[in-house]
Amino acid sequence: MKVYVNGRLYPKAKACVSVFDHGLLYGDGVFEGIRAYNGRVFRLDEHLERLENSARAIMLRVPMSREGMKRAVLATLRANNFGKKGAYIRLVLTRGVGDLGLDPRKCRRETLIIIADRINLYPEKFYRHGLAVMTVATRRNTAETVNPRIKSLNYLNNILAKIEANNYGVLEAIMLNADGYVAECTGDNVFILRRGRLITPPLHMGALEGVTRNVVISLARDLGIPVAEEAFTRYDLYTAEECFLTGTAAEIVPVSNVDSRPIADGRPGPVTLRLIEKFRELTRSEGVPI
Ligand code: PMP
Repeated sequence: MKVYVNGRLYPKAKACVSVFDHGLLYGDGVFEGIRAYNGRVFRLDEHLERLENSARAIMLRVPMSREGMKRAVLATLRANNFGKKGAYIRLVLTRGVGDLGLDPRKCRRETLIIIADRINLYPEKFYRHGLAVMTVATRRNTAETVNPRIKSLNYLNNILAKIEANNYGVLEAIMLNADGYVAECTGDNVFILRRGRLITPPLHMGALEGVTRNVVISLARDLGIPVAEEAFTRYDLYTAEECFLTGTAAEIVPVSNVDSRPIADGRPGPVTLRLIEKFRELTRSEGVPI
């Protein structure tokens, strides 16, 4: 495996960053997870735009133009022979090397890392039978603390929620915001179907603007399914007709039960299955060629 670090490709074992990098010391940085299917990178512009916006929000410079970033991503994929295959791309941009103080002004140059690998988040059986999830006590960060709209390297909030789920033997956690409304999962957005309408929490309730979330919203509209961004609670999860999670790594994964309450009959519903099918069609037919 070859890993891109600041303009050069290194063998995996030699791809290193300094122990003084503020990405490591303070989680001071941003990242993206991107997928390539059949030799094409899916929604590359959307991911790069989100990276640029996350960086802007924390006053971090992206050291390259959009086109430069695209070239770097594609070069990393080619160097790893991902030309015809599927891949998961992790883009990491940190404040760079500073001293042991917090002051970001001490960091002279950003660190840019691009890793191309494979990912298989959930075994296939969960796409057919659904995934059990739980709501956890750890609340989603508020916009006044670490804004969930920023895809920052500071994922401790999500990791604490994941630890809670792990402790109960559940694979994914649903996080509520400080007011008790459903926000999102540790690494995925959440949707429910209620009275035939597809509902996902609005971004200001504590959700990342997921690229997959946006794709699903537009696929649903194309299919004539009404979609709304609306606040909802655990009660709405428990009584939903269907529920699923969306994310670049997970794609669309049906939820079979929440807090031990089965969603409808506990099997993936027709709307979820239709969206999975349409999503897969799209990933097979679209993207920036490697
Ligand atoms: N929420 C969080 C907290 C995430 O980390 C992710 C994954 N990046 C998502 C939602 C889903 O976003 P996307 O569809 O862009 O991968």
